[in-house]
Amino acid sequence: MAKKEMEIVGAGPSGLVAAMTLQKAGFQVKVYEARKDVGCRFHGDFQGIENWSQEEDILETLDKMGIAINFRCGPFYGGRIYGPTGEQLDLQSKTPLFYLVRRGQVPDSLDQGLKTQALEAGVEILFEHRKKTIEGRAITATGPKGADAIAKGVTFHTDLPDQSLTILDDEIAPGGYAYFLIHEGLATMATVLFRDYHQEKACFEKMKQAFQKLIPYKMSDPREFGGFGNFYIAKSEEHGPRLYIGESAGFQDFLWGFGMRYAMVSGYLAAQSIIRNTSYDALWKAQLLPFLQAGMVNRMLIDRFGATAYRILMKQLKGQAEIRPFMKEKYSMSFKKSLLLPLAKRHVQSRVKDERCIHPTNCDCVWCRCAKV
Ligand SMILES: Cc1cc2nc3c(=O)[nH]c(=O)nc-3n(C[C@H](O)[C@H](O)[C@H](O)COP(=O)(O)OP(=O)(O)OC[C@H]3O[C@@H](n4cnc5c(N)ncnc54)[C@H](O)[C@@H]3O)c2cc1C
Repeated sequence: MAKKEMEIVGAGPSGLVAAMTLQKAGFQVKVYEARKDVGCRFHGDFQGIENWSQEEDILETLDKMGIAINFRCGPFYGGRIYGPTGEQLDLQSKTPLFYLVRRGQVPDSLDQGLKTQALEAGVEILFEHRKKTIEGRAITATGPKGADAIAKGVTFHTDLPDQSLTILDDEIAPGGYAYFLIHEGLATMATVLFRDYHQEKACFEKMKQAFQKLIPYKMSDPREFGGFGNFYIAKSEEHGPRLYIGESAGFQDFLWGFGMRYAMVSGYLAAQSIIRNTSYDALWKAQLLPFLQAGMVNRMLIDRFGATAYRILMKQLKGQAEIRPFMKEKYSMSFKKSLLLPLAKRHVQSRVKDERCIHPTNCDCVWCRCAKV
C-alpha cells in the first residue's frame, strides 16, 4: 500500500520533530527548508533547554517522543544571577536546571542532530526551497514572523571553566536579561531586550563591560550574532488543513524566550494528531496553553513593574535551597494568575512595529532587520 504523504514547511526543531515522528509512523514526509542547511538562523551559540517548568526531566520527555541525544547537551545544575542593584545569588538544583545545547550549522548542534535523526528515519529534506503557499494537509513550522524580543550576542572561545551567569538589569537588557554561558571552552554572551530595541548596540557594549567586571574574560575568535523571538496565543492553530507549530504558532516562553521545548513538543503533538486523527488544538491546549498563559501573566508583571519585579524575584530566590520547584511554580498557571490573565492578554500584544525605533534608513541592527521579516 502506498505511504500517506505529508509536507512540512521549515526545518527547525519543531518541523524536524514533526517530520521524524510522522515518518516513523509510516508516512512519507517531505520538508521544505528555505535556507541551504538547518540552523541557519543561529550561529553556533549556546541556548538552554529549560528543565524547570515540569516535573519530568526534559531528556525523559524527549526520549518518550523518540528523540535521541546525538548533539551536545550539557546539564547545568544552577548558576549565578545578579539582580538590578548588583546583588548576587547562586542558584542550585540537585537535578539539571537546564541543558545547554548549540544552535546552528555546527556539527554538534541540536539542529544538526535532529536533521540526522530525521534523515535516518527516511524524511526527505529539500533545502533552498522557500515555500510561499502549500496545498492540502501540511504543517507550517517556519519560525518567528516578527520580533517581540531581540537578542544581540557574541560567541567566542575561552579558557574559563563551565558556568552560567545571568544579569537582570534594565540598563543592560530592558525588560529582559543578559546571559553568559560557558561550556567546554566555548562561550556565548547575549543581551535579550523586550523593549527599547534601538538601544541594542549600547546594551551590548554595557553587557560586555558588566560581565568583564564580574569575571574577567578574554575573547578568542569572537563572532557576533543577533536574533529575535515572536510570542502570541492564537485561538486555533489549525488553519484549514494546515497545522502551525513552534514559533510560527507563537509558541514561546513569554517571560524569557525559552522556546525550544515548545517547538519540539508542539511538533510532536501535531504529528500525533495526524497519526491518531485527533484534534491538534485539543492536544496543544491541554499540554501547552497553561504554560503559555502563565508566561503571559509573568511577562505583564515584568513589563509593568520592571526593576521592582526583578527585585522581588531576587528576594524570593534568596530563600530557595532548591530552585527547580520554585521555577516550576512560577511557570505554572494558578488561581491568582488566572485572575490576571484578561489584563495580561490586553497588555501583551505583538510589538512588531516599535514606533520608538529611531534608526536611520538602511540601519542593519537586529531590530531593523527583524522589522523587515
Ligand atoms: C538569540 C536567541 C536565543 C535563544 N535562546 C533560547 C534558549 O536559551 N532556550 C530556548 O528554549 N529557546 C531559545 N530561543 C528560542 C528558540 O531558538 C526558538 O524558540 C526555536 O528555535 C523555535 O523553533 P522553530 O522550529 O519553531 O523555528 P526555527 O528554529 O526558527 O526554524 C524555522 C525554520 O523554518 C525555515 N523557514 C522559514 N520560512 C520558510 C519558508 N517560507 N519556506 C521554507 N522554510 C522556511 C527557517 O529557515 C528555519 O530553518 C532563542 C532564540 C534566539 C533568537
